[in-house]
Amino acid sequence: MAGNGTVAERNGRLSLADFKASVSEWAQRIEVQPKEIHIRQMRNKWASVSTNGRLSFNAELLEMEKRYRDYVIVHELVHMKVPNHGKLFKSLMFAFLPKWESLAGQLGVRESAASSA
Ligand SMILES: [Zn+2]
Repeated sequence: MAGNGTVAERNGRLSLADFKASVSEWAQRIEVQPKEIHIRQMRNKWASVSTNGRLSFNAELLEMEKRYRDYVIVHELVHMKVPNHGKLFKSLMFAFLPKWESLAGQLGVRESAASSA
């Protein structure tokens, strides 16, 4: 990581290091330990998490407002605790990001209850 230890939001694009720092901060709060954090071009979703703890985020998130970025980050990290979108998932989302439902709506996230991503 770039070493300054803070998540600075500049005009425009967030750096990769700042994005990863932000993911690490959320991971500590949520008490999960992602093994790897990847940022790549993704066509149909904002992020995914594999069962072995590897997180992938859509590179477009670097261009987005912090609140949306936070929503996607928290969503994936909570999946490391709860693999579905059931009651427990929702209550954790409310605990960490009380406005997550409207953010999800604005992002156009379409997920079935059975989806794990
Ligand atoms: Zn999900």
